[in-house]
Amino acid sequence: MTETIVPAREGRAVKVGRGQRIRITTPKGAQAADFFAYNAESLSEWLSANHTWVTTFCVKPREGDVFISRFRRPMLKFVKDGANGVHDMMIAACDQFRYEHFGFKGPHASCSENLCVAMRRLGHQVDVIPQPINFFTNTHVEADGRFVSPPNPVAPGAFVELEALMDLICVVSSCPFDLKVDGWTINADQGPSELIVTVA
Ligand SMILES: [Zn+2]
Repeated sequence: MTETIVPAREGRAVKVGRGQRIRITTPKGAQAADFFAYNAESLSEWLSANHTWVTTFCVKPREGDVFISRFRRPMLKFVKDGANGVHDMMIAACDQFRYEHFGFKGPHASCSENLCVAMRRLGHQVDVIPQPINFFTNTHVEADGRFVSPPNPVAPGAFVELEALMDLICVVSSCPFDLKVDGWTINADQGPSELIVTVA
């Protein structure tokens, strides 16, 4: 088993072989984990949240679901949900411009940058930011279509466990979102915290 600490506001890439399981834990709770996955043998094939939810007919990932790539091939199975279904497949990864859009001045850490840096550590250049699966992220689609992120109820120690259905490179980002925006909470009030990733 290998354990990787993803420090608050940072990202890490891990290799997950076919048949292995990756577990992501939020020790302090209420920390959004942006999750990306690539076919280790062909980085042009990546996990696609959008392709996945049109096959599961649900905009939330649920235990037992199979996550597919943009080529509609099975990549991961969602084996165990230890976070009571509080996940999201709708929010694009945050980036510098998202923070500027909210009025933030100057550079801000982001999941997009975390993805790029984590992949470069393994020698790979990423040109496209895929739609992530955002574990431990509380979003809700209202009856009239409005989309909100209410306060995050995910408990300390909550986790998700996924089984790799092909050899993968997976990236987990501790979402650095820390702005005070009405109706858009994302993380815990006290700010971003670390995540733990284990592969076994
Ligand atoms: Zn983010």
